[in-house]
Amino acid sequence: KASVLAGDNYEDAMPAKPSQESTGKSAFDMLQEERKNLPIYSYREQLLNAVKDHQVLIIVGETGSGKTTQIPQYLHEAGYTKHGKVGCTQPRRVAAMSVSARVAQEMGVKLGHEVGYSIRFEDCTSEKTILKYMTDGMLLRELLGEPDLGSYSVIIVDEAHERTLHTDILFGLVKDIARARPDLKLLISSATMDAEKFSDFFDHAPIFSFPGRRYPVDICFTTAPEADYMDAAIATVLTIHVKEPLGDVLVFLPGQEEIEAVEENLKNKIRGLGTKIRELIICPIYANLPSELQAKIFEPTPEGARKVVLATNIAETSLTIDGIKYVVDPGFSKMKSYNPRTGMESLLVTPISKASATQRAGRAGRTSAGKCYRLYTAYNYYHDLEDNTIPEIQRTNLASVVLSLKSLGIHNLLNFDFMDPPPSEALIKSLELLFALGALNQLGELTKAGRRMAEFPLDPMLSKMIVVSDKYKCSDEIISIAAMLSIGPSIFYRPKDKQVHADNAMMNYHVGNVGDHIALLKIYNSWKETNYSTQWCYENYIQVRSMKRARDIRDQLEGLLERVEIEVSSNSNELDSIRKSIVAGFFPHTAKLQKNGSYRTVKHPQTVHIHPASGLSQVLPRWVVYHQLVLTSKEYMRQVTEVKPEWLIEIAPHYYQLKDVEDAASKKMPKTTGPAVV
Ligand code: ADP
Ligand code: MG
Repeated sequence: KASVLAGDNYEDAMPAKPSQESTGKSAFDMLQEERKNLPIYSYREQLLNAVKDHQVLIIVGETGSGKTTQIPQYLHEAGYTKHGKVGCTQPRRVAAMSVSARVAQEMGVKLGHEVGYSIRFEDCTSEKTILKYMTDGMLLRELLGEPDLGSYSVIIVDEAHERTLHTDILFGLVKDIARARPDLKLLISSATMDAEKFSDFFDHAPIFSFPGRRYPVDICFTTAPEADYMDAAIATVLTIHVKEPLGDVLVFLPGQEEIEAVEENLKNKIRGLGTKIRELIICPIYANLPSELQAKIFEPTPEGARKVVLATNIAETSLTIDGIKYVVDPGFSKMKSYNPRTGMESLLVTPISKASATQRAGRAGRTSAGKCYRLYTAYNYYHDLEDNTIPEIQRTNLASVVLSLKSLGIHNLLNFDFMDPPPSEALIKSLELLFALGALNQLGELTKAGRRMAEFPLDPMLSKMIVVSDKYKCSDEIISIAAMLSIGPSIFYRPKDKQVHADNAMMNYHVGNVGDHIALLKIYNSWKETNYSTQWCYENYIQVRSMKRARDIRDQLEGLLERVEIEVSSNSNELDSIRKSIVAGFFPHTAKLQKNGSYRTVKHPQTVHIHPASGLSQVLPRWVVYHQLVLTSKEYMRQVTEVKPEWLIEIAPHYYQLKDVEDAASKKMPKTTGPAVV
């Protein structure tokens, strides 16, 4: 058995940190010293011995102790990269990028050479790459092309405690591969102490646990519930800044929107305080933050100043920022939830679990004693918070992973080796959807269309839309639309003083009430016509960065078209062909206008609304398909296109019957506004 060590307070054993001004040392030497100061360093030999002795090993160590950055390097130094790569999965793309950048620096190599990362739509690796950080979703995709992971000598499933959907699916798959490939080493690395569960799942693999350094963290609860957690967070940061000794602050917020709101508000408040107080440096970090700005959170805080990091859950265990002394925890995170009955998925701001709260507080005590301000009451904590977060696999739409598993040849999903199985209702629902999309036949086997769909790293509905565009001769337009849909809602920006201008610029693309999908296509094509001009983006209040990303994604989709032997064909004058392709992917997302201006989804009736940012929010067409539903103050349909009800019968006769699309009020087919031409 590998050693099982107890993690406790190791304050006394703390070696001195190398000081920045130590003489005559190069940056590289300093990095090497920093490496040696990480808690994991003392266990390097023991760890390597355990890896040598066991094929599968569960590794448990406190967040920030060096698991992610050091273990792959140790394995490399011990020769494991001679006959294959070391792959290390991360649940979050930002972590894969940021950690690989750090490791490349520590090894003195250029990122993308010996050390690289691979995330969806972005491959920063080369022939040389031996340490490869990647999202768990990317390893799953690699499995489609290399089912035995033959090019790897070690796979590290890192941040296993996060229990993301893809990590959970990988557990079952890599366990199987390890049995077939005795030469493959498999490491499961996790931050929390509930390692027994991982060990049990992996045929009682030994647990290698090493202590981190933890300083005491003072935990303060509020005495009464806060009315607005964002206001409370801002007030707490300001109080810390004015009253508490120096040391950086980490604030946990649910998402990008909340982070941007708090950032702006904090900046205004600080400006109001004038020069009486010391400098406060505000650093946001969230998944979509451009990589140039991601590095900023790691820059050392200048003497006499204080840094405040506004972060999503990413800073809970995936990224460690040195120097944090104060944590502000409002107690919320954004969580996916899924209703298998209706097939509706939503992203909701939800109270965190006790396990999360403990991790968050721990972030304050990494380099010295710290303080954690919980913006909820102790009663709240003990009585309302769940002990652990429910694994994502039990609260999400499974269509995409089911399609991947089917194309890996795993037919009986109910028998798949899940650590925690998803509700069977959700599995059945996703099989039904894939059948409706024509990806599976009646026997549940992958069809030709399904095989093509599985090639695209997209939601099956989007993949279907692309595959079908071949028939409508508009694949060129459809991949532009798919790329634009994939970059998320942040295409336009609205500067406070120019909102009217920005809104006018946006409305340009909606002329003729073409619908949001076609508007996205018009935006993309206009930009392309200017030869991808940055100036054009400025003039039209469009985010250059988002557009560049869309172009990258589009290029990749074009490459994938070639792979599945679909010709790039263009049919810009036939907007209805484009709309029909959209319907062929999104027909399960059809809604019909009600008398009161709301909509009703056709299957599994539910009341929904057109999102105010949609070009059709004032038009209210009778029949629409939508890209996604988001639940904020109401259930909103985001990205909406008008359709003719007869299309539903034409395109999805197995899904809709005449009675579904007949207009009860008029009996005749509803009139639709004529389509405009781009
Ligand atoms: P673990 O995986 O055990 O949580 P890591 O290997 O991620 O620990 O972190 C070890 C150390 O490396 C931490 O002190 C962290 O601050 C540092 N580190 C990680 N990524 C970066 C980066 N991109 N820039 C600077 N420091 C980093
Ligand atoms: Mg880590």
